[in-house]
Amino acid sequence: MTDLQDAFILPDEFDIAPVRLTVDLGALVDNWREMARRSAPARTAAVVKADAYGLGIEDCGIALYEAGARDFFVAVLQEGMLLRSFAPDARIYVLSGIWPGQEAYFYENDLVPVLASEEQLSLWMAVTAEHGDHPCALQVDTGFNRLGLPLEEAIALADDVSRPASFSPVLVLSHLHSGDTPSSPLNQQQLASFHRIAEAFDGIELSLAASAGTFLGPDFHFDMTRPGIAVYGGEAVNDMPNPMKPVATAEARIIQIRDAKKGETVSYGGTYQLTRDSRLAVVSAGYADGYMRSLSGTGVPVRQAVAGGACGFIAGHRVPVVGRITMDLTIFDVTDVPPSQIRAGDYVELFGRNIPLDEAARAGGTIGYELLTSLGLRYERRYLFPDD
Ligand SMILES: *Cc1c(COP(=O)(O)O)cnc(C)c1O
Repeated sequence: MTDLQDAFILPDEFDIAPVRLTVDLGALVDNWREMARRSAPARTAAVVKADAYGLGIEDCGIALYEAGARDFFVAVLQEGMLLRSFAPDARIYVLSGIWPGQEAYFYENDLVPVLASEEQLSLWMAVTAEHGDHPCALQVDTGFNRLGLPLEEAIALADDVSRPASFSPVLVLSHLHSGDTPSSPLNQQQLASFHRIAEAFDGIELSLAASAGTFLGPDFHFDMTRPGIAVYGGEAVNDMPNPMKPVATAEARIIQIRDAKKGETVSYGGTYQLTRDSRLAVVSAGYADGYMRSLSGTGVPVRQAVAGGACGFIAGHRVPVVGRITMDLTIFDVTDVPPSQIRAGDYVELFGRNIPLDEAARAGGTIGYELLTSLGLRYERRYLFPDD
């Protein structure tokens, strides 16, 4: 028996992958620096929750750390523990706060819980009384009704002379719900509420803006901004040209190119009928790879989805999805691509450098955030480093 390695020259896995993802860490770092430039003189944190928006917390976290980020936000304790292992001296905020039983992990890994409720607050007071001081942050709700102490309770807490002297958050934050809509008066309302918090917690650092809020301008920046999606190349603000560089490019391999006749139908349900003799490329990505079924457009009823569905990109051509996207396969109409420019084995871009992330997302009635964080486990990933 010959060892596989002796019998074959093993190709680079990226070159033979059915689905593959290129993450341009240079673009990621440029985007973070651009958000830092817009935020200055405020500091700029890096948000790396949900595996850095699906792009890999380790590679993205290290790149952002090396670019100078020292404040990081994660959603949950486990993400914070992982990040700690390669960001030794960063301040790591855990947005969902703390649950009973997690205390030791927060202390051990030097993580900062973002306390979000009366319950978490009293837990934290008890924990610090027993185990000693440890930094915490406080989230205040200014209208989102998601996480955070109600405004009046937060102000009462700030004024409460009986609160333990040791209770002193290192950061007070709130979150805008309509930052993506600059014309919304609700942004000004949340800002006004946050100013009341700023007064009450005089001398403590403040943070209000995520990506969208950063674009709203200096009034919203306070001491630190917390951009996520913009750093990953996504659109943060509606109806504004996206100034960020694309970071992630997803591609899938053509398994087969087939000819089909006018009048025939394509894929499950036969919902798509060809209006001309066509060439179809069957590509090895489907909804199991986060290329969601709703991106099919035609034939899949989804509220507000664009009827046309998504487009891929190959050899300088935009090629539309036809018929329903299936679990592992998607069919593109490549009739308009000259046959000499396309063959089985080539890759079709799903989104990235040529098909903007948010264009693809919109075709499925969703947002870039969801497309990125749904990519699934089959992608072979390649990271381009800033110096490449
Ligand atoms: C996710 C999140 C952010 C980052 O939001 P983006 O819209 O991706 O910039 C900032 N702050 C909080 C509280 C968040 O939950």
